[in-house]
Amino acid sequence: MKYQPPASHFIDGNPVEDTTGRPIDVIYPATGETIATIHSATDTVISQALESAVRAQAEWAARSPTERGRVLRRAADIMRDRNRELSEIETHDTGKPLQETLVADAMSGADALEYFGGITPTIGGETVELGGDFAYTRREPLGVCVGIGAWNYPIQIASWKAAPALACGNAMIFKPSEMTPLSALKLAEILIDAGAPAGLLNVVQGYGDVGAALTTDPRVAKVSLTGSVPTGRKVYASAAEGLRHVTMELGGKSPLIVFEDADIENAIGGAMLGNFYSTGQICSNGTRVFVHRAIRDRFVERLVERTRSIVIGDPMDEAVQLGPMVSATQREKVMGYVETGKTEGATLEIGGGIPSIQGFENGYFIEPAVFTGVTDDMTIAKEEIFGPVMSVLDFEDDDEVIARANATEFGLAAGVFTANMTRAHKAVARLLAGTCWINTYNLTPAGMPFGGVKASGFGRENAAAAIDAYSQVKSVYVGLEPVDSPY
Ligand code: NAD
Repeated sequence: MKYQPPASHFIDGNPVEDTTGRPIDVIYPATGETIATIHSATDTVISQALESAVRAQAEWAARSPTERGRVLRRAADIMRDRNRELSEIETHDTGKPLQETLVADAMSGADALEYFGGITPTIGGETVELGGDFAYTRREPLGVCVGIGAWNYPIQIASWKAAPALACGNAMIFKPSEMTPLSALKLAEILIDAGAPAGLLNVVQGYGDVGAALTTDPRVAKVSLTGSVPTGRKVYASAAEGLRHVTMELGGKSPLIVFEDADIENAIGGAMLGNFYSTGQICSNGTRVFVHRAIRDRFVERLVERTRSIVIGDPMDEAVQLGPMVSATQREKVMGYVETGKTEGATLEIGGGIPSIQGFENGYFIEPAVFTGVTDDMTIAKEEIFGPVMSVLDFEDDDEVIARANATEFGLAAGVFTANMTRAHKAVARLLAGTCWINTYNLTPAGMPFGGVKASGFGRENAAAAIDAYSQVKSVYVGLEPVDSPY
């Protein structure tokens, strides 16, 4: 039990345990071993977290923005200093290879804390001249916000939500996914070390019912969810009941378009990154790869060659590029999609099986898969698989591919690869997606808004856009003349 935390929850600056809650085993996906056991939050724990957050929020909002920003920036520094330890936890919790977690998880969380710490002192209102009288606006916190996370980027998701929320003067209660509860506890601890008041970020563990209890509590002003579309519908509905603010970061089935003038090796690199990174468990993945018919054969030949040389294995070995899926259930679901792809007539060019890795026989590994001959009506082209399964589709002209790319309920992301910038900009202007990439894929710097349209959600994380999502504007009219009253 190498990763057993001191207690399941972190509330009011301290680890908190209540063993009467439902036990949750934390499994290392590479071996199937239980590395920790925690307990789902009871009503007592949830109340404790809420009361403490209400207190902390009042204290925090009264601090100067410069001081608040300094705390966030200090937390970013501590995260970077502790990156290896945090990455090892994340690798054990998610199964993602250390090669990835060392650069993409806590580091991305630290970027968010640094970015929002930097802009905290600039968050403010405006003055409106009214010819004598004037008005001004104040940008005020919402109060206690709830963050609910998915399991694919646990510490990144917690940081992306906490950093802008705290920058605006809110407190946050974060509920990690029940599959990956460990790293958010560390973030809460780091904020205390950085000088945040006890209770500013409380972490409570649990299944969906704990998320639901937090979402409906009258003390909660806002809910930000990263999760699937069905969960999004439920959380949105219960937040609507209490007229709470919401941000929804949901699923996707994003298109990645490779025009015939693209640098093929670069486009293949982008497509592999956008399908196989984190063993394909990324919401914005470009899982529908539309390749122009003129370059299709060459593209597929090199794609298969490069896929064959991906190193799968021990996630703690930094040379390993692909780890297991997060759980046995997730692998089963993905393998089901591979079967459906074959049954519905797509050609499986490579992968889709279970690799044999010595010493890791009980892990949830899967070989990255590439399907060709995929058509728009096939299940694998329509549903989010959330695993390393790439579908290659052919196209002939620009209008056709844009229409097909947009023909989905989702709208999280999209990518285009072309040497012609006019064509690229025209294409992205027509793509129905919240986040687009030109000649690259899946880069999400803290300064760029990230989020989806249509069923992929709304509201944006990162950048100044996130400040709008965690604050509200108060208008103040200042009368300088006697009241012009008709009475
Ligand atoms: P999920 O929807 O099963 O769970 C997400 C979170 O919601 C978990 O913490 C879960 O406990 C909680 N939850 C479940 N029911 C709830 C309820 N009724 N009320 C409140 N909370 C509830 O998603 P998952 O399987 O953990 O993650 C995978 C999904 O997340 C994929 O669809 C993926 O695309 C999406 N995702 C989106 C983004 C994004 O930024 N758009 C990022 C990562 C993952």
